[in-house]
Amino acid sequence: MTIDLHNHTPLCNHAEGSPEEYIEAAVARGIDIFGFADHAPMEFDPKYRMSFDEMKQYEESVRELAERYRGTIEIRLGYEVDYLPGRMDERVLRAEVDYLIGSVHFIDDWGFDNPEFIGRYDGADLTTIWREYFDAVEAMAHSGLFDIVGHLDLIKVFNYRPEGDIRPLAESALDAVAAAEMTLELNAAGWRKPVEEAYPSLDLLRMAHDRRIPITFASDAHSPAQVGYRMEALHALAREAGYDKAADFRNRERRLLKF
Ligand code: ZN
Ligand code: FE
Ligand code: FE
Ligand code: ZN
Repeated sequence: MTIDLHNHTPLCNHAEGSPEEYIEAAVARGIDIFGFADHAPMEFDPKYRMSFDEMKQYEESVRELAERYRGTIEIRLGYEVDYLPGRMDERVLRAEVDYLIGSVHFIDDWGFDNPEFIGRYDGADLTTIWREYFDAVEAMAHSGLFDIVGHLDLIKVFNYRPEGDIRPLAESALDAVAAAEMTLELNAAGWRKPVEEAYPSLDLLRMAHDRRIPITFASDAHSPAQVGYRMEALHALAREAGYDKAADFRNRERRLLKF
């Protein structure tokens, strides 16, 4: 069973290809369960997100595709929601979807994974930045708003890492993820970024396994060519940490399937 729950559409203004092309690519690559999780609208950042008007259009087009491809591939509807206290919108948090991915892309108002703002790392205390990042992930888990943790260690994206063992920095966040009964995605996008590693690292994935946190898979495709990107390698990483099942969601209910 191959599951890929985190894929974008051009509505977010930084992805390419039609939703049909994503589905056709998923069918061609043998994906059984394919989910769209486009960037949910956010007043604060319309440049890299869909608009509130586009929300309905997005939801309807994914539902229509799910109908049309019934019997060929299972299609799921989700959002990738920015966790930003005070800036999240009820229309998104209450949307009728299969799942919500919670992602931390901002520390305060700094879009730390955006190459435009990479200058902020220079001369900064990396331990402090990493701590702030994982504090936000922990708060996100405590919020209880989301089903899946997006790219758990995204803060490594440009390879700015504190010295030494980073596991202690992620411990409380992972405890909170376990307590909230959230699912962790294995996300291949890191292999396309300067860090050249999946999210999360094997070390953090082992910590998740120790805490019995379920996983799912994500190519985080921003083009049809990226659908199913390095799925075999993601499966191998999961197996190395001891996993043999992955999560699927329907109407925010989780079920675990062998992969
Ligand atoms: Zn994106
Ligand atoms: Fe993201
Ligand atoms: Fe994404
Ligand atoms: Zn993403």
